[in-house]
Amino acid sequence: MSDQLAPLKHFVTDMSAVVARAGTDEAIILEEGAALLGQLVGRDAGENWLPEPYAGAAGDSYGQYLLYRAPDGGFSVVSFVWAPGQSTPVHDHTVWGLVGVLRGQERNVPYERADDGRLTAGAPEILSAGEVCAVSPTIGDIHQVSNALTDETSISIHVYGADIGEVKRHTFDPKTGAATTFVSGYSDAPIPDLS
Ligand code: FE
Repeated sequence: MSDQLAPLKHFVTDMSAVVARAGTDEAIILEEGAALLGQLVGRDAGENWLPEPYAGAAGDSYGQYLLYRAPDGGFSVVSFVWAPGQSTPVHDHTVWGLVGVLRGQERNVPYERADDGRLTAGAPEILSAGEVCAVSPTIGDIHQVSNALTDETSISIHVYGADIGEVKRHTFDPKTGAATTFVSGYSDAPIPDLS
């Protein structure tokens, strides 16, 4: 393992301990995981710990690079790289998730789904470097994320309670609420060696 990856390795070690101790208590995972992720993304200015392959563009779409997958699939860590103007569809996760902004700014729009399936957008939230937000089926699982900067790349680190690239989940038509099943996969890059 290179020294550059030490902050990520420490995060994975600490996050593994939190997930093991919390069991199915999602509130503990979200609270303690958010604190750990806040430290990881807050230290980047001085340490620049994310290697280039996971901080670069992935072509026409935003990059989603797998950084770590727990051996039991209990959680995963992914870097998202947003060119100016790039945005996700409105989507869900079906598992808990934490989003921490590493560089730049992200715009997060939460959605509520009514019993009749229709979606209502909540107030947009701007997250700056070092800030963390959470999603899950219990606290609100549907959102749309985009780069809040029009002239710079933004990068965020996401942590999910599953191997998120393999999870069957949904995108939504924001007008009708119609759901489409999707599996995101990951952008093409070798997983970093944290051993
Ligand atoms: Fe998301």
